[in-house]
Amino acid sequence: MRRASLVIFALASLVAAIPALACIWDSDTLRDERRGLPGVAEILAGRWERHSKFFYEHRARQSAALLEREPGNLAAYDDLAVAYEERVWESNGARNRVVRRPSGPAVVITPWNAPFMLSTWKTAPALAAGCTVILKPAEWSPLSCSLLCDLVAEAGFPPGVFNVVQGIGEEIGAALTRHEGVRRISFTGSPETAVHIGTAAARNVVPFTGELGGKGPLLVFADADLEAAARKAAGQYDDAGQVCLAGTRLLVERSVEDAFLELFHRFTDEHVLGDPRDDATTVSPLIHPEHLARVEGFVDRARANGDEIVRGGRRREDVGPLFYDPTLVIPRSNDSEIVQREVFGPVLTFQTFADEQEAVALANSTRYGLSGMVYTGSEERAGRVGRAVRAGTVWVNTFLVRDLTAPFGGVGISGIGREGGDYALDFYSDLKTLQILDGTTA
Ligand code: NAD
Repeated sequence: MRRASLVIFALASLVAAIPALACIWDSDTLRDERRGLPGVAEILAGRWERHSKFFYEHRARQSAALLEREPGNLAAYDDLAVAYEERVWESNGARNRVVRRPSGPAVVITPWNAPFMLSTWKTAPALAAGCTVILKPAEWSPLSCSLLCDLVAEAGFPPGVFNVVQGIGEEIGAALTRHEGVRRISFTGSPETAVHIGTAAARNVVPFTGELGGKGPLLVFADADLEAAARKAAGQYDDAGQVCLAGTRLLVERSVEDAFLELFHRFTDEHVLGDPRDDATTVSPLIHPEHLARVEGFVDRARANGDEIVRGGRRREDVGPLFYDPTLVIPRSNDSEIVQREVFGPVLTFQTFADEQEAVALANSTRYGLSGMVYTGSEERAGRVGRAVRAGTVWVNTFLVRDLTAPFGGVGISGIGREGGDYALDFYSDLKTLQILDGTTA
């Protein structure tokens, strides 16, 4: 009862704030004083040390690259919103103009990994588009998102424009997505939860985007720089594999199998499991005992299924209560659960292919399609395989390079809709066509 009242209170305040925020980007004063999103970015960047310490204590370890993205997300969307040019043209004796209007209150629901970075990534375009926002962070890493609320207030946003409501997904998240006043829902999390959110959105005819789980292939061709490929493959254990974009299915051309595996094991041996605050640490603990049990369950079932556990496959209580050893599994078949379902932990599978056709078929053989990686020395193959792998993002000879203006999302059960750049600003806007009959206005 108390939680439900909280949600209704937060929604009422955000609905009331729509006109206030709609004005914010039109105000020269606010722009001149560099308030709004650039203001939040500046405050954030200025308190880097203090915040990064706080973040480490309230979430799983994240790479420095992710930390740098946080102010970048805020500033980039402000730049895009300011740079937007309305399309204007003449036809049928009228002047046509495409106008972006804020869609209205947006609910943003985020997962427990990279909570602060993802919250800035998902709420900045909503704010830049002029929407009021209500953010519901995940239960296991809520605090950094409440900090974002403080920063937004400090940067001078009118009260009620940016709201954070903490709570259990099935209660608070579900109440938010059901609310009739909400006009957009942006979700990042698992495909299973996306089904509930999509159903709630459909009931109110509300557009929603889902950035969902992945089971990315990492393809290694014989013509690739094998050392770079093996190093990157071993790097998929970073952050204990709690990365949606990770290339968790290693697919290697058979002729270089042995050479690749030797290098892969060598680089994996270099990993340091430990305290996320320690610079030497590369593999952090899992987020929660329940998640550790989930990861362990996948490996135990793989073992029972006859899949071969080549390395790892056990808890590392000698390091701490939430550690799991970087694990490599050679599946008995491509249908094995360990190949077909996202583990979201330090668990990779290893399979080989004979040729490009088999490589692409294996890459595209799961229901996911968030991202993929291709290692090859051939420009032609990079283009061919890059297009053929079914995924929202494919990296060739690299990983996690992001241009914030590019579309981001998944295919299959990895996502619906696209965020990033103008794609996100369009999502949070109602595009209106304004037509004025020629010669009727002066
Ligand atoms: P989850 O789906 O369990 O929860 C995500 C959020 O949804 C949480 O805030 C949760 O409280 C909320 N929620 C749960 N049930 C709800 C309901 N019925 N109605 C409304 N909200 C509800 O996911 P998780 O375990 O927090 O995160 C891990 C998942 O997120 C993995 O699948 C991972 O791949 C995915 N992920 C995807 C991306 C991406 O960009 N594609 C990024 C990070 C994580």
